[in-house]
Amino acid sequence: MTSRRNFLKKSGLFGSALMMPGFNRLEQLTKTGKSASNGRKPLIISTWRHGLAANERAWEVLHQTGSILDAVEEGVKITEVDLDNRSVGLNGYPDREGIVTLDASIMDGKSGDCGSVCFLRQVKHPITLARMVMEETPHVMLAGEGARQFAMEMGVPLEEEILHPDAEKEYLKWLEEREYRPVINIENHDTIGMVGVDSEGNLAGTCTTSGLAFKMHGRVGDSPIIGAGLYVDNEVGAATATGLGETIIKVCGSFLVVELMRQGRSPQQACEEAVNRLIEKNSENIEDMQAGFIAVNKEGEYGGYAVHPGFDFAVHHQDGNILEDSKSHFTNS
Ligand code: ASP
Repeated sequence: MTSRRNFLKKSGLFGSALMMPGFNRLEQLTKTGKSASNGRKPLIISTWRHGLAANERAWEVLHQTGSILDAVEEGVKITEVDLDNRSVGLNGYPDREGIVTLDASIMDGKSGDCGSVCFLRQVKHPITLARMVMEETPHVMLAGEGARQFAMEMGVPLEEEILHPDAEKEYLKWLEEREYRPVINIENHDTIGMVGVDSEGNLAGTCTTSGLAFKMHGRVGDSPIIGAGLYVDNEVGAATATGLGETIIKVCGSFLVVELMRQGRSPQQACEEAVNRLIEKNSENIEDMQAGFIAVNKEGEYGGYAVHPGFDFAVHHQDGNILEDSKSHFTNS
């Protein structure tokens, strides 16, 4: 399995960033539990180590265009075409029929608009197609063949269906046993979810994935479901999820995180409470299931939390782009 599964340690850069005066401001809360307005804007955060490169691009686009929506779209497009990535885009692992199907969603806090595609084949940038659904149709979500037809209507080229050689190798290995274990066992997933806030407090988010490796054909995870894999509200903040989609859908995870922030929780507190709810509602086999959330609020405070250790996320603000180890409900000790 690739290095993204290596539950990465904080990078040297992160280590030094932590030493910066005033960097870690998350814990500063008022007595009511409401977070103090001490975040930094603009701020972009995204799931897993692949978020570092995605953040880099998003930051560049934010400064070129001034649009947080453009930034989060362009950022995750880097991951969608990353040849080393087996969990996002067409280089990802296929389903159990050997077909790569993609899920993606985008949400614009300013307008409240959103768009998504799911069970989509042959499209290099599902996130851009999701944005087209949002901007060019009266709908929010297009699935499967309909989404592919829409891509063709929009002049989006269809790619040949050829598995990446590493994905094919793993798939052939998987076929030997055909063991269908629909759990995220910390080895077979890794969506990119990205949420960001500009200097004026406008928020946007994206989420894109090839989903669970060797899933049933037709399975759709949380990532394209607005409220589950992604939610953005310009009045409050934004959240996105990674991990076993079934567990996240059951608690409307990202919506839950945003609603908790609306009630006064900091992004960190909201992510922790949502993970605890997810654990409560998925108590069977929770030891095999990984899931996590990241969130940012209008003030530019952020947080992240997971069920199990090993989750990390990338944080970009004016002082740099760092990888942060997430706290988790269960610990290694
Ligand atoms: N949430 C994604 C899904 O269930 C997978 C992941 O985040 O790794 O499809």
